[in-house]
Amino acid sequence: MNNSWELGSVSGIKLRVHWTFLLLPIWIYFSTIMAGSGIAAAATSVLFVLAIFGCVLLHELGHAMAARQFGIATRDITLLPIGGVASLERIPRKPLQELWIAVAGPLVNVAIATVIFLGLSFSPISVLPAAGHFLGQLGLVNVVLVLFNMIPAFPMDGGRVLRSFLAMFMDYVQATNIAATVGQVCAVGLALLGLFSGNVMLILVAGFVFLAARAENMFVSGQSSGIQFVPQSDSVVDESPKTLSQAEGVWFRDDEAVPASLSVSSVAAWLSSQRRDHCTVVDSGRIIGEITKTQLIAAIYRGLGRLPVGQLVAP
Ligand SMILES: [Zn+2]
Repeated sequence: MNNSWELGSVSGIKLRVHWTFLLLPIWIYFSTIMAGSGIAAAATSVLFVLAIFGCVLLHELGHAMAARQFGIATRDITLLPIGGVASLERIPRKPLQELWIAVAGPLVNVAIATVIFLGLSFSPISVLPAAGHFLGQLGLVNVVLVLFNMIPAFPMDGGRVLRSFLAMFMDYVQATNIAATVGQVCAVGLALLGLFSGNVMLILVAGFVFLAARAENMFVSGQSSGIQFVPQSDSVVDESPKTLSQAEGVWFRDDEAVPASLSVSSVAAWLSSQRRDHCTVVDSGRIIGEITKTQLIAAIYRGLGRLPVGQLVAP
């Protein structure tokens, strides 16, 4: 992801933090001070937020480690103020594999919460009440993280769980369509909840979820709108067609670059199903650049959804 700094790496996976992430502790520090709570309370609040993001990081590592079991590498894990993103090289089309990768993240938070609550119930809290309170709150946050992530909305884990579950009983495209629609309904619900509770973060997440679910829907409707699907000559030869993605009549492998002639909205839709934030664009077999999900979504909002993606990355 652009505009992010590398923190280090864990077993070959780069850990990155987006610059906007720094706004979060700064904002929390000053809002606590403004509320008249003193420097110690402000420092504790910042420490608490950092601890939460430690848990988010472990959550993303859970996805990455599960993916590794299926030979899928993770390029990096990026921390954003609204959460973490693990950039997996591809998403397996085998429902059970996608299911396991999606569930592995929330399972990490279940494990953290269990360890914290067990630890607290076996330790004399009276010795360090402040630490006990801090850990208790952190345990609760992990429970919330599990519940929140399991909301069946793309690109959250619950949406992937739903799609992979449906894909066991029906066509992958149909499963995606249903899961994406459920995702959009959930996003609207989240946004309303955010509005009524005055939670700006929730509104932001809802907007992000809605766009991703919309992109997923566009992808599916693009597939079913009667466009002729002509497999590209050399990309279908190895492996089963199930590992291929399809958009605007072009087949391309999940871990491959996208052709410059594909429309911006198709690439955005494909990317949103990939748990990646960027992809390489090729023109006549030559790499002409990279494009990020943010750039694609911004272009769709400017009404450039039908533009060939190559024109966005042209030097
Ligand atoms: Zn997750």
